[in-house]
Amino acid sequence: MSIRRYDEAVMTDSSGIKSSGIKSSGIPGQGSGAGTLASSSQGAIAASNQSSLAPGGLPSRKQRRHIVLTSHPSRSGLRGQPIHWGQGDPVQRGAIVATVSDPSHRNAIGTHSGSYAVYRALAVANGGLCPDHRPDLTNTAPAIAIGPHPSWADPQKIVSLDPFGAVVGEVFQPLLDQGIDIRPTIAVTNAHIQMPELMETLRQGRLTADGAIVKPSGDLVVTKAAVEPVWYLPGVAQRLGVSEDDLRYALFEQTGGMFPELVTRPDLKVFLPPIGGITVYLVGDVAAITDPNRPLAVRVHDECNGSDVFGSDICTCRPYLVHGLEECIRTAQQGGAGVIVYFRKEGRALGEVTKFLVYNARKRQQGGDRADAYFARTECVAGVQDVRFQELMPDVLHWLGITRIDRFVSMSDMKYNAIVRSGIEIVERVPIPDDLVPPDARVEIEAKKAAGYYTEQGVLSEEDLVQIKGRNLTD
Ligand SMILES: [Zn+2]
Repeated sequence: MSIRRYDEAVMTDSSGIKSSGIKSSGIPGQGSGAGTLASSSQGAIAASNQSSLAPGGLPSRKQRRHIVLTSHPSRSGLRGQPIHWGQGDPVQRGAIVATVSDPSHRNAIGTHSGSYAVYRALAVANGGLCPDHRPDLTNTAPAIAIGPHPSWADPQKIVSLDPFGAVVGEVFQPLLDQGIDIRPTIAVTNAHIQMPELMETLRQGRLTADGAIVKPSGDLVVTKAAVEPVWYLPGVAQRLGVSEDDLRYALFEQTGGMFPELVTRPDLKVFLPPIGGITVYLVGDVAAITDPNRPLAVRVHDECNGSDVFGSDICTCRPYLVHGLEECIRTAQQGGAGVIVYFRKEGRALGEVTKFLVYNARKRQQGGDRADAYFARTECVAGVQDVRFQELMPDVLHWLGITRIDRFVSMSDMKYNAIVRSGIEIVERVPIPDDLVPPDARVEIEAKKAAGYYTEQGVLSEEDLVQIKGRNLTD
């Protein structure tokens, strides 16, 4: 009931704060219960008291700001500028404003930083972060220029990220100067990465250090981009093949009512969902990514913390990721470029708790962990085999301006189909080399091949799949 506390603080305030407590117009069907938790929780905090900060820059409890609900624009004085999604001119498209420091400027649902917004809230709650802090964007511009590409002006090609997200400091400077809190949703920087497997590949002579892409020390020189999700709801609904209303209702309900504007503000078409984002690693000359005369290798990888970071051997994730990097390096050294796209979609986007439950169920089932029952166990626990919804995935490739992939380092038919359906040509598919598959991951790879994943080796029969077994839980 912390919202009530704001209300009470304001109502009992004697320091001259201009406020009428929680401004609520009520929700249809809920009467006008302005003080109810349901309607209060829809509020964003309005900056109305910036001049009376306590020492340390934080408002004292008595000076806390009143709540302006953003669920009903007509009575709350909201004046966020409309967004014209798919316009090639960023100014005509409009800046996406999801700040909570001035709700009257907002023209999007949700807020920045995905799930990390909750940590930001903790820092505000304990006084460590001033709620009105505005980022100082000095020297934060992208390390290299990406785009604009024709796909940025096509509302069908990109619906789940803001193609102008890296350049807001450039293209929206006049609005920033007016005090509108516009934040980048993409950041682009340079890095060196060191991976033991790549060092070993160099030692074995399968790769060579060229001094520019791969340093003599074994360092791989990359450009990397972090991308936060920005969803244009009509476009996302179209990709799902559902109505926008159905999408909004499901998002509202399944987040426990976290974003009431999904159902009360059909005028707000953009949603910044509280989910993980994407990291893009670019190897080689970025100009080669869009040059039809130069080759391009791409791996689209979904997060698997257990394998990617800790080397767990129940799946092929890290070995395949490293193989993807190796292909990217080789292609870049041939005058092309390589792209690794890393999605935070842990455990087929079901999350790691579900994933570990499934591991237990697989290894404890009658007959042990075996390839013929691989997908069935996930479905038993999660209700579905996979919720990654690859139809949104190609957006990041379109942000990069990709129209053809020469070497696609993935066996996933879902990824392949989504990319091809989005209008990108795939010339060749690169399976994981057999010697990179850990013994315990045989269950996964054979089950996937039997389910339609790309392979050059043929598929095992149902009887043979039963014989492909993993370790016991206690081994
Ligand atoms: Zn994995």
